[in-house]
Amino acid sequence: MGVVPAAAAAVTAAAPRRIHELPDALVSQIAAGEVVERPASVVRELLDNALDAGATHVTVRLAAGGVRAIVVEDDGAGIAPEDLPLALRRHATSKIASLADLESVSTMGFRGEALAAIASVAEVAITSRSADAPHGWRIEAGQGGSGEMQPAARGRGTTVEVNELFFATPARRKFLKSDATELAHALEAVRRHALARPEVGFAVWHEGRPVAQWRAAIPAARRAEVLGAAFADASRAVQVERGPLAIEGRIGQPEAARARADQQYLFVNGRFVRDRLLAHAVRAAYEDQLHGSRQPVYALFLRIAPELVDVNVHPTKIEVRFRDGRAVHQALLHAVQDALASSRVLPDDAALVGASTGGGAAGTTTTPAPSGSAPSWQGALALHDVAALARERPAPWSVAAPTAVPVAARGSGMAAWAALRPQLTGEDSGDPGCSGAAGPPSAAPVSWPLGRAIAQVGGVYILAENVHGLVIVDMHAAHERIVYERLKRAAATGGALPAQPLLIPVTFAATPAELATAEAEADALHELGLDAGVLAAGTLVVRSRPAALPEANLAELTRSVLHELAEAGASRVVQRARDDILATMACHGAVRANRRLTLEEMNALLREMESTERADTCNHGRPTWRQVTMKELDALFLRGR
Ligand code: ADP
Ligand code: MG
Repeated sequence: MGVVPAAAAAVTAAAPRRIHELPDALVSQIAAGEVVERPASVVRELLDNALDAGATHVTVRLAAGGVRAIVVEDDGAGIAPEDLPLALRRHATSKIASLADLESVSTMGFRGEALAAIASVAEVAITSRSADAPHGWRIEAGQGGSGEMQPAARGRGTTVEVNELFFATPARRKFLKSDATELAHALEAVRRHALARPEVGFAVWHEGRPVAQWRAAIPAARRAEVLGAAFADASRAVQVERGPLAIEGRIGQPEAARARADQQYLFVNGRFVRDRLLAHAVRAAYEDQLHGSRQPVYALFLRIAPELVDVNVHPTKIEVRFRDGRAVHQALLHAVQDALASSRVLPDDAALVGASTGGGAAGTTTTPAPSGSAPSWQGALALHDVAALARERPAPWSVAAPTAVPVAARGSGMAAWAALRPQLTGEDSGDPGCSGAAGPPSAAPVSWPLGRAIAQVGGVYILAENVHGLVIVDMHAAHERIVYERLKRAAATGGALPAQPLLIPVTFAATPAELATAEAEADALHELGLDAGVLAAGTLVVRSRPAALPEANLAELTRSVLHELAEAGASRVVQRARDDILATMACHGAVRANRRLTLEEMNALLREMESTERADTCNHGRPTWRQVTMKELDALFLRGR
């Protein structure tokens, strides 16, 4: 005994190692490793329990970022005195009793391991009183706990105290970060719950000071509060129902995207999840509006029949598995795509605001709501709320992104729009500065949101005037989007893109690689409206052009497409490759800088933007237009001070 070093024994031992059962405490500690990573995990579990108990208000108190103390108080159903010791036992739960229950679980918890796990790595005390108990009871667990119950004073509900996390496992404690970092993670856990459950009030205290508070609110108000007014302003509503699946929430405009994926909230049946399938669907919806490295912002809430999703695939339930993952992926992809597709150029919430004010500005809007972002009472509330927020806190930007302006103007904007419109469209519109002559609101439909073209600047920008002031359009970027959407529509109908045979075929010099691709991909080229072939060594001939691209330089277009085809290679069947090619073609087909446009051409472009999906951003995610309001113009000239 003790003579042979352990390592040597391991190498030389011929006899098998004996099996023994691990002590209970160690089993719990091992299990705790999966559930409790840091104070934020404890906060998450305790909040889940409070919500499962039907709490309407939850208070979280933290000390030293939660490492020294986490106290969660709720006003939920409480725990029956005789069950109190059981609450701390492993695999003891009040939430499921059978496999059938597990398969349709609708509570946040069901594994019965959180409290046991926490108690194995920290000092835990629970004080709870159920509705029919004459007073509360307190039980202490953990290394120092006696397991004895004592009477305690408390109203209905439960308080769980967790002290000195990882006090007995210094190795794990070492992995914790600074108090400030741990506090930030814990706060994030509360934010997620606050987003999921707007009807519940939450308060967070750190070292005796309040750090966050959310009162019970309607969903839209809670989201605006948690995610901030900036998010609310630069986002659109999503609201779709497909059979057993409902999706709602808000998605950020492409230009609100961030460098980091830190504002992406996905919830499934009220549970925050990090799901690759879902994240991929959202990402794919942004595909041709966002640079690869930019991260969209969103808060999306999926509701699905519990039996169609398995939440028991991960100890912390952060991952889920759908019975029909593909269907969910497609539904989410399309929901987000549709919401993004309705261009902001159309006041996409005009109809909603009209609805929320009971149609007060009667007849001012005949714009139908864009398909996909079906307005609902919830959407109406969201926008109403957002408009109110925006009025309180005007957007900080001097030259506002297009989003900021319409949002601020939405509440009162429609009436003003109608009143001002005659000045912009009427023949007598010589002096739009005289705004005193606001006649009775006209019943004219909202039209020309991007206004009337007045000039071209630098061969690059179109200037237009609308009710808000000055509109600046990047004509190439805008036209590129228009052409791209046109090409995609044509491609979506199946078969080849319409081609226009050339009277005189175009020939140009090509590299051996280009010639090889042209031969190998003749069918693909034909489908794209380009009938190209090898004329002689080193020379390509093109006999047709895509009908949608009358302006494109054929040699350049064909070279780019050949390059894309060579890149795409075998993955050509993939939609993405096809979209890339169409995007390249659109770029060649769009008006070039320095091309002089007539006023008619400029106006035609503006009108096309207004009726094109995703017209607010070019294919590379840059904005296509900006609004400079009258107010901002006045400010430039110190007018009206
Ligand atoms: P689970 O939540 O998976 O059931 P836990 O270990 O988190 O497992 O909790 C064990 C049990 O303790 C729960 O099933 C519940 O009955 C009870 N419980 C825990 N926290 C609360 C609370 N805040 N209010 C009421 N009951 C609670
Ligand atoms: Mg639990």
